[in-house]
Amino acid sequence: MSQLLESKTRSALYQELVFTKNQPKLKSFAIEASCYVCGKGLDDGHSLTAKNSATKTLLFCNIHYSMN
Ligand SMILES: [Zn+2]
Repeated sequence: MSQLLESKTRSALYQELVFTKNQPKLKSFAIEASCYVCGKGLDDGHSLTAKNSATKTLLFCNIHYSMN
């Protein structure tokens, strides 16, 4: 029983490490995220929506997304 608890704890710790490791990447993505058309982003008060094109994922602000 004590072994079972230990393995659960280790699993939780591992997930936490993975999450922490990925955080800087997600953060920098959020900062760089901006509208493909006008270049405005979250800092300008726009909400962004990702849209997949044939070659890559493009981001559009709330104004330009409705035009596509
Ligand atoms: Zn835009």
